[in-house]
Amino acid sequence: MNTNEKDTPACNICKKSNVRIYRPYGFFYRPEDNRCNEHLEENERKYYIPCVIDKDGLPWGYTMVPKEDCDIFYNLPEAVSTGYGWDTKKGWVKL
Ligand SMILES: [Zn+2]
Repeated sequence: MNTNEKDTPACNICKKSNVRIYRPYGFFYRPEDNRCNEHLEENERKYYIPCVIDKDGLPWGYTMVPKEDCDIFYNLPEAVSTGYGWDTKKGWVKL
């Protein structure tokens, strides 16, 4: 598997990758806005959605993500198991 660092989303605060990473909904993609669930502020969480990256290193629009790329996201753990995490059907849920 070709692991290109640039294409692996990471939290811009703690630099963790290989955990679920979120990005602001509807904004032009800026990797510096990426956050893990630990570093999302309460008041900004509702504007964030899963960051699922395609083969060109760009995020899928959330509703158009192909299942195999979606599964990559869902197979990752949340950075922390407290607070809020993403549920496949419901979106943000309290963990
Ligand atoms: Zn973080």
